[in-house]
Amino acid sequence: MYRFLDMNRLTAPYLDALRAAADRVITDGPYIGGGEVAALESDLRALTGTAHAVGVSNGLDALRLIFRAYIELGVMAPGDEVIVPANTYVASVLAVTDCGLTPVFVEPSIDTLNLDTALIEQAITPRTRAILPVHLYGRACWDVTLADIARRYNIKIVEDNAQAIGAQAHTPGLHGSHATGALGDAAAFSFYPTKNIGALGDAGAVTTDDTELANAVRALANYGSDRRYHNIYRGYNCRLDPIQAAFIRVKLADIDNVNAGRRANAAVYNRLVCNPLITPPSVGADDTAMVWHQYTILTNHRDALRQYLDSRGVQTDIHYATPPHRQPCYAQYSSLNLPVTDRIADSIVSLPIATATPDEIAEISAIINEFKLI
Ligand SMILES: *Cc1c(COP(=O)(O)O)cnc(C)c1O
Repeated sequence: MYRFLDMNRLTAPYLDALRAAADRVITDGPYIGGGEVAALESDLRALTGTAHAVGVSNGLDALRLIFRAYIELGVMAPGDEVIVPANTYVASVLAVTDCGLTPVFVEPSIDTLNLDTALIEQAITPRTRAILPVHLYGRACWDVTLADIARRYNIKIVEDNAQAIGAQAHTPGLHGSHATGALGDAAAFSFYPTKNIGALGDAGAVTTDDTELANAVRALANYGSDRRYHNIYRGYNCRLDPIQAAFIRVKLADIDNVNAGRRANAAVYNRLVCNPLITPPSVGADDTAMVWHQYTILTNHRDALRQYLDSRGVQTDIHYATPPHRQPCYAQYSSLNLPVTDRIADSIVSLPIATATPDEIAEISAIINEFKLI
C-alpha cells in the first residue's frame, strides 16, 4: 500500500523533540503568548528576511487579518477588488470576501498552474487594491510582470504562502529578499498539519516588512488591543498557541531536509514517469522555486487512472476538484467563464510525495507507466 500521506511517518522523526517541547510548555508555560511564540516569530523572520512575523491561529486567519488590517489602515475599503487566481483553495477567496472585498478571478497558466501573470493587467480596475498570488503546490508564483504591475498601479501584493514555505524566487533588481513570504507586501503562512511544516493542530503566521501593518495584525489578532485593556480596533481572538509554536519550531529547524526530501521525490517522478496519457508538472530551470507541497499531474482520463492506481495500492487525491467559483457559497460567480480553471479542476491528480521514500516513488512511477486505456 502506497499511502498518499502517512501521518505516522510524518511525525516519527520528531517524536522525542515534540514530546520535549510539549513538556517544556506544560511545565513552564505560559499557555498564551510568551517565549515560544516570540522564538517562532524570530525563526520566521530569519527564514524569510522580513522585518516582522506575527504568529496567528491558522492560515485563513492570517489572510483575513492582513486584509482587515489594510482596511483599518485606510489602504483598502469594503467593495475594493482583489485579484485572485481562480484555481486556488477556497480559503484564499474566503479571506477576501470575509473582509467585504470583491474577488476578481484570473485564470491560471496551464503550464505552472499558478496565476497567469500575463492576464493580470487586463483585470485591473480603479478599485483594484491588491493581487493575491497563491504559491500553489509549493511553486513560487512570482515574476517581473507581477512585481511591475503592482508597482505601476500602486497596489499591494499579498502572498498566500500556505503551500510554499521555504521556496525562493528570483527577480533580479526588483526585490532585496527572495524567499516566498518576503516577495510581496505581506504574506500568510499556514501550519495546518499536512503542510510542508505542520503543527499538531491549527496554526499560521503573517510576515511583512511593513511595521504599521504588523502592528495592526498583532492588535487585531488580540481583540484589537494595542496594549492591555485598550482596544483600538474591534478585533478577534486569532492568537497562536505557544504549544503549537513549540511544535512548529521543532519541525522548522528541519525545513531544509523536509523540502530536500520532497525535491528528491519529485526528481524521481520527473525522471521516471513516462506515459502519453499523463502530463507531469512542468519543471522550471530553478529548482529552489519549488518545494513540492503536492506533485500534481494532468490527465484526460482521471477516473480511470485513479481507479487503476487504487487497484494497484496507490492512494491519490485531488487538489481541488471544485474551484471556488463553482462552490455553492459563491453561486454569484458560477457563470464566470474560466475554462482553464475548469479544465485543470477536471484533470488534476495529486500523487504521493510527502512521506513516500524515493524507492517507493520509483515503484509508483513504474505502476503509472503501465497505465493504459482498455
Ligand atoms: C491550507 C491553505 C490555506 C488555509 O490555511 P489553514 O491553516 O488551513 O487555515 C489557505 N490557502 C491555501 C493555498 C492553503 O493551502
